Amino acid sequence: MKKLIAGNWKMNGQSSDAILLCRAVRLGTKEITHVDWLVCPPSIHIPLVNDIPKGGQDCSIYGEGAHTGDVSAVMLRDMMCDYCLCGHSERRQNHGEDNETVRNKAEQIINAQMTAIICVGETLDERESGNAFNVVERQIRESMPQSATSDTVVIAYEPVWAIGTGKAATTCDVEKMHNQIRELLKSLVASGEHMRIIYGGSVKPSNASELLNLDNVNGALIGGASLNADDFIAIGQAVKS
Ligand code: PEP
Repeated sequence: MKKLIAGNWKMNGQSSDAILLCRAVRLGTKEITHVDWLVCPPSIHIPLVNDIPKGGQDCSIYGEGAHTGDVSAVMLRDMMCDYCLCGHSERRQNHGEDNETVRNKAEQIINAQMTAIICVGETLDERESGNAFNVVERQIRESMPQSATSDTVVIAYEPVWAIGTGKAATTCDVEKMHNQIRELLKSLVASGEHMRIIYGGSVKPSNASELLNLDNVNGALIGGASLNADDFIAIGQAVKS
């Protein structure tokens, strides 16, 4: 399977930044076809990002109607999104989203004919107390929609302590966790052997090669480094073809 290189632009930039970044990524990735590229702009900038696969950063748990401020999965699909994140740790922590909410969002995303990127990951306390896999296992079990297949769901393993800190997980920890997640997916989903498991947390050009060429690491979710087109492209280039 091709590795997925996904940029999460979070709540950064003005419209002109989105247009420039999109253009730079589009031009720089045109010839690099051994990976699948994806960018997730802020929802208001999604219509400005074209000719490159794009996705939402979040969506409503509701389909449509009186939900002020929400953006539905169907609306994202209508704006040509192919993917949408759900359960990012910033949503779980800052907006109190639990596994049931994440599962509802993943269902909305799948029903809107997109692929849900379900984000999971332990805090530093949970890792230091030896509970990292237990936490991740529970998040996956409780966030995975019944209808999930390897075409409709990607799992993003993002240790919370590695996000935006500059301190990525070690290759050893990533390899172990991704192998454990693979076994879990095989037992949970018929096509679990082929479901992408991508890593996120301080991925940058200098650590991309060691992280992204591991077995069972099927791509990356990239925050900070995705705001710089050269860095984002260099991360994809580090994947062996
Ligand atoms: C993220 O927010 O999903 C992320 C991985 O951020 P960063 O790459 O900046 O750690």
